[in-house]
Amino acid sequence: MPDSATPAYPAHSRPVPSDPAVDAMVAALPKVSLHCHLIGTVAPQTVVDLAAKHGVPLARSADDLYDHDSYEDLGEFLRVLDVVGSVIRDADDFHRVTYESLTAGGAAHGVLYREIQLSPPGHPGVPYPRLLEGVVAGLRDARTDVGIDARLVVGINRERSAGEAVELVEQVIAHRIEEVVGIGLDYAEVNGPPGRFVEAYQLAGRAGLGRTAHSESGPPRHVLTLLDDLGCSRVDHGYHVVDDAEITARCVEERIPFNCTPVSSDIGRYSGSGDGTHHRIRQMVDAGLCVTIDSDDPPMFGTDPTHDFRVLAHALGYRRDQLAAFTFNAIDACWLDESEKAALRRRARAMVAATPDAPAPPPAAAPDPHHHSQEAHR
Ligand SMILES: [Zn+2]
Repeated sequence: MPDSATPAYPAHSRPVPSDPAVDAMVAALPKVSLHCHLIGTVAPQTVVDLAAKHGVPLARSADDLYDHDSYEDLGEFLRVLDVVGSVIRDADDFHRVTYESLTAGGAAHGVLYREIQLSPPGHPGVPYPRLLEGVVAGLRDARTDVGIDARLVVGINRERSAGEAVELVEQVIAHRIEEVVGIGLDYAEVNGPPGRFVEAYQLAGRAGLGRTAHSESGPPRHVLTLLDDLGCSRVDHGYHVVDDAEITARCVEERIPFNCTPVSSDIGRYSGSGDGTHHRIRQMVDAGLCVTIDSDDPPMFGTDPTHDFRVLAHALGYRRDQLAAFTFNAIDACWLDESEKAALRRRARAMVAATPDAPAPPPAAAPDPHHHSQEAHR
């Protein structure tokens, strides 16, 4: 069984001025999480505990394990991710990190549903069935204990070969379970252009798996590769889409979901200059794109699902209905069946109705007058 204690998470990396009305609003809003990596959700003390259990020396203590601001360098971030992945080894470990991700890291923030991205290549030496056994047990216990539901998305490491990607998808198909609903593509886009993975994605498509992929730093045309060659129904990050009006118009027309992660992308500078303006997310929303909001690797970047909403409330002046729209977009975009989505919408609508809206922001932070608010109560 998991530690019953709630793990301690790092302080927020993008602190905002105290505003009790905003805090009450963002805490009460429902969230649906489509862009969150299991390895990236592990509390520092859990990493320390698991490292001790397996006799792995760590260069840092729990207090300074995650140095958010150094992750402007994606390579530095991925090196820490490798360390965390390397200490999660047996089914009990996977149970613990999954359970903590869904309870203290999820349900405690009003997350009703999460599609967790797993990274089998991030746990060297761990057979895929063992990984699944622990994760699914953690998922089921979290559902029983706190009522959060979750499914699994298996991530291909795009820095590896096309052949390895095909082998991973073959594993997913050979060990098919209902909890695994799709595949993703992560790690550094600059080292793994999406076109390399057409065969793996086609194989997943023929098996009826959902398909998504990261595009954090690539050109807008990579979005076309994702949609047309990889058969993705949604995009993780994808901020550069707004640099191409034609591709943006198509994505608006087809209502392609973009799973954005404000704090991690600000630190990683995918969504702008790292100055906290989140202007690309504003541009995407203003263009009418279907945007969802999540936390990516929350403790590693000093954030959590509530804090990502809070940061947008301060930076972009978003209030209850716009933030709720992100959640309803995520319900539309997720890979549950229609009756399960309808049940989620009902729960989310009731929570939004009970959420106190915060007063309009001061003019400097208000959304621009051309802003098209998305309908929240569908
Ligand atoms: Zn990600």
